Amino acid sequence: MIRTDKPQQARPGNPVPDYLPPPLAHLLNTAQHEIDWHVNDRGVCAVCGSAFPCERAVLADLALSAL
Ligand SMILES: [Zn+2]
Repeated sequence: MIRTDKPQQARPGNPVPDYLPPPLAHLLNTAQHEIDWHVNDRGVCAVCGSAFPCERAVLADLALSAL
């Protein structure tokens, strides 16, 4: 990561801005991946089979909403 004085836009394909501290950026990247995987498949999660929204999708949504 290249640091500049100006905040940078997120890179294409990476929704997390570059100016975030690395641990927070990692958390948000993980949350984005969870949201992408844990999707609604006729009322159940396509990955874990729990009722949708599953716990992982809810936690990921909470993490992303903090951004
Ligand atoms: Zn799930």
